[in-house]
Amino acid sequence: MELPEVNFSNDFYFWFNTETKKEYYATPLYFYKADFHLDYDNKLRDVYYKESELTDRGLKHPASLYFPFHERLGLLLLRFLNSDLSDYEKANKTFFYAYGFEILRDLDKKYKFELKQNYGSNEEYLKATTKIFEDLQENLIDIQKELKNAVTYIYNLGNDESLEKYTYLERFAVYLMKRKGSLYSYYKNDLIIRDSYSNKYKEFENYSETNILESLHTKNMLLSMSDTHKSNDLSSICYAILEELVKTPNYPIKKCQNCGMYFIPTSKTDEIYCDYPKENSKPCRDLGAFQSYTERLKQNKAMGEYRRTYQQKFMQVRKDKTNTKLAKEFETWKKQAKEKINDMKKGKLTENEVYNWIIENK
Ligand SMILES: [Zn+2]
Repeated sequence: MELPEVNFSNDFYFWFNTETKKEYYATPLYFYKADFHLDYDNKLRDVYYKESELTDRGLKHPASLYFPFHERLGLLLLRFLNSDLSDYEKANKTFFYAYGFEILRDLDKKYKFELKQNYGSNEEYLKATTKIFEDLQENLIDIQKELKNAVTYIYNLGNDESLEKYTYLERFAVYLMKRKGSLYSYYKNDLIIRDSYSNKYKEFENYSETNILESLHTKNMLLSMSDTHKSNDLSSICYAILEELVKTPNYPIKKCQNCGMYFIPTSKTDEIYCDYPKENSKPCRDLGAFQSYTERLKQNKAMGEYRRTYQQKFMQVRKDKTNTKLAKEFETWKKQAKEKINDMKKGKLTENEVYNWIIENK
């Protein structure tokens, strides 16, 4: 297995630099609602979401390993955990705009599809990729669910005391060895290509032999070596990233206590709020800095809903004193609601999860 030397128009390649905590990937994209910044000096690109951007009449833009996309280590996995897979546009906005659809080619052995070099129009592109997404939607939701379960166990997001003293790597190993969930089956579609100096052929073609020798000798030039993964199966890609993350100390996945999104803290590892930019408000971390925890609880919408619902139920029971069934139900509800609220205070459940529970259990 060789790495493609020039541009290529199929497949998904990715690799890591754990020292700088970066991940890199190269894959062809149609750039539907997406654009990118070019960093010529470092030969890198980064994709961003852009609502007004459409494809170039359905044209597939080739990728190059020498102009890869770069992002913070773990971002692909985090984005997938946080992605909204309820419909095509939402899934595109929260995930696929940045990574494309090559990563779904080997997701399901029984489902093969083509990604054309040119669809001729934006509409044709949308029609084709919407079908692919919808055909694989259930599958994707399952994988996301499993990854959430795995991450919850590995990073002990449920604050399980019996798991507290173990490291991420230890929990990851046990999760796989005991075949908890289906994560253990996700590594299959990943081809690892070992790095070698010969792979630098293209990168250094414009330098003379003496020039390179001198650079290596006098400037202590470092040639970074990293194994490249080739995979067209999103589950295998997430597996490889997770494996890399659990080996990286002080780099935990957390669940934001305000919005429930998965994140990796940028500065202190005990950060409980994410710093994702939000459309209509400040990032959760900034909100958290302004309000003390108890103040936040007072304004917490789950607490507000709890108090309102409690009052309603209380009045119902009082009005209908002979109704023992109603009184009993109220007692059960009180107990369950209290437990939910305590879990929220301990960080086991998010505000939204408790709010939804109260709405669903009125
Ligand atoms: Zn948040």
